[in-house]
Amino acid sequence: MVRGVVPRQPAKTGRHEGSRALSRPGQLKGGSRQVQSGKPSFQQRKSKASPSSSKKPRSKAYNPMAPERINEILNILDATYPDVTCALTHRSAWELLVATILSAQSTDVNVNKVTPIIFQKYPTVQDFAALTPEQLEPDIRSTGFFRNKSKSVVGAARKVVSDFGGEVPDDMDKLLTLPGVARKTANVVLGTWFKKGVGVVVDTHVTRISRRLELTRNGDAPKIEQDLMKVIPPERWILFSHQIIWHGRKLCIARSPKCVECPLERICHAADKTWSTVDIHKNAKP
Ligand code: SF4
Repeated sequence: MVRGVVPRQPAKTGRHEGSRALSRPGQLKGGSRQVQSGKPSFQQRKSKASPSSSKKPRSKAYNPMAPERINEILNILDATYPDVTCALTHRSAWELLVATILSAQSTDVNVNKVTPIIFQKYPTVQDFAALTPEQLEPDIRSTGFFRNKSKSVVGAARKVVSDFGGEVPDDMDKLLTLPGVARKTANVVLGTWFKKGVGVVVDTHVTRISRRLELTRNGDAPKIEQDLMKVIPPERWILFSHQIIWHGRKLCIARSPKCVECPLERICHAADKTWSTVDIHKNAKP
């Protein structure tokens, strides 16, 4: 016997190796296949019965944050709102800061009626710092929440004079030390006046539309801003904010959005659309 070659032994089960193969229809000794007319082969029957062999490729799960979708949104916004900027009239960082504080819970149109009068009456930040909040209240009454806004404007003026030499700082952390200034106001001043894109302005329009477009599921401004900063490229933060705010004023209005006129319609699945050519997503709520 050649060294290393072990003769085949009978299986302990009593069945000889290969007996199973021989029992399959159409299979001959040695593994070759016989084509039989009419009867399907074992392999053919197996492939018919097995769902795995006829699996269709799974369609990709919908991802509202996919870079291609974000790009499409940005391109549509660029084409629709190419040159938009802040609608609050101002001639300096200080005037913009005051106008933004006054714009909370008010319209830009309303604020723009008030600010020329107060800036004529109190031309410098030092003039505001010398007031008491009560003195300013009657001048800004029509913007709503005038007591709190008065305290914020006078408090901010005093801090700008005492801590920053009368100049509005161009730094997020410093701006946040001013009374009545949160990230939204700071982002408006930094982006619009200083051209510094440090974050995304999240006002009522940006909150509503970001949720309708499924760019966030959060409801509070700081978290929405973080979500947007993850998907919108930094160089687009300033313009994106302005474009969405304009979109919110013109078409994507709160109560009854004008979806039939909206250029974003075919990629928007908002639950409260007034007209739709695409699936509605029940979680895409304002
Ligand atoms: S389709 Fe309607 S809900 Fe969606 S972004 Fe446009 S206006 Fe807003």
